[in-house]
Amino acid sequence: MKPIVFATNNTHKLAELRQMLGQRFEVLSLSDIDCHDDIPETGSTFEENALLKARWVKDRYGYDCFADDSGLEVDALGGRPGIHSARYAGEHGDSDANNALLLRELEGYTDRTARFRCTIALLAGDDEPRFFNGTVEGSIIEHPDGSQGFGYDPLFRPDGWDCTFAQAAPERKNAVSHRGKAVSELVKYLEKLY
Ligand code: IMP
Repeated sequence: MKPIVFATNNTHKLAELRQMLGQRFEVLSLSDIDCHDDIPETGSTFEENALLKARWVKDRYGYDCFADDSGLEVDALGGRPGIHSARYAGEHGDSDANNALLLRELEGYTDRTARFRCTIALLAGDDEPRFFNGTVEGSIIEHPDGSQGFGYDPLFRPDGWDCTFAQAAPERKNAVSHRGKAVSELVKYLEKLY
């Protein structure tokens, strides 16, 4: 199987990706290639941050690589937390604190529409970056529900669903999620490339 690096150490994202790509590619994480760098995410868009991560790996480690950058955009908050989703409440990846802050900020709002957005940057074959995007529309519920998934999943109910992402089996989430959509575009491209 062709190895390809997914520039992440987020075990949840890695599991999601392996579920979607694992039949065709050997998906390696950053720790699988002994990369323990604190890769700077200094971009101001999802695209810039995804490309920074992919470029870091391709240039220093030589692997074909893709990286994602993703986040939650809440309309009543003018699109926040957006690219700052992982560290919205201060500490990187503290989902309980992020979810608590989101509920506090939305207190009193009736418009609770939101979307997850994901951009994948791929550096494979030639050095030309390629981007794949996905979004899923939904709303922020009043209280967290469910224990699957990660991040804002317990608060996010996709349009047309009667439960949150955190209450759904991973396959059901992947079939409609922002990352699932971006990955399915990535897979179509990789199948043509290899
Ligand atoms: P990234 O690792 O810089 O892309 O950070 C993305 C952040 O957005 C994560 O830490 C989560 O807080 C949030 N996020 C992205 N995708 C999802 C998802 O599928 N479910 C829940 N939260 C997500």
